Amino acid sequence: MNLILMGLPGAGKGTQAEKIVEQYNIPHISTGDMFRAAIKNGTELGLKAKAFMDEGNLVPDEVTVGIVKERLSQDDCSDGFLLDGFPRTVAQASALEEMLASLDRKLDHVIYVQVPEEELFKRLTGRWICPTCGTAYHEVFNPPKENGKCDKDGSDLMQRDDDRPETVEKRLKVNMEQTQPLVDFYSEKGYLRDIDGNREIGNVFADIEDLLKGSRQ
Ligand SMILES: [Zn+2]
Repeated sequence: MNLILMGLPGAGKGTQAEKIVEQYNIPHISTGDMFRAAIKNGTELGLKAKAFMDEGNLVPDEVTVGIVKERLSQDDCSDGFLLDGFPRTVAQASALEEMLASLDRKLDHVIYVQVPEEELFKRLTGRWICPTCGTAYHEVFNPPKENGKCDKDGSDLMQRDDDRPETVEKRLKVNMEQTQPLVDFYSEKGYLRDIDGNREIGNVFADIEDLLKGSRQ
């Protein structure tokens, strides 16, 4: 079960990733974790990546792809994996195809959790946090009892810079521009599976399970 999980910020990708790896017992491979592990273990590629990051540069594809390959070659990936946050570009996607072929494997599904842009905007801009106790609220999904005040201590709730409308709008735009070429690439290859993410978490996961039933041995 060799899977890629894709979705824009706010689509609920993280939640679905947790459910997939728990249900199917495959490792969740996020790029961030993978980089941290490679650097911590002092692998040659990890040290290369660190050198680029320390200088504030982007890690080149050949290094990133090498780190992914090291990770996918480990024993716990022998029955499958869930890649999250990689590939980010068509060049990386092509490199992944070649890498998997060299490992005598191929992708099964690219799961794309889709949520309309207006809904993503609503989800992402509705988050508020208490500066005193750190409790998180959401205007729509988990509102405080009194508007703008923490239920526990009455503090005025604050919005993180990341959750402000102008920041969210920009982040979504950048992500959509980045995602579309990958969606097209995997659609042409026949791997893309659209999942309607604009529903309850359990219903979204039920669709993913239906999809994966077909690929279980
Ligand atoms: Zn509070």
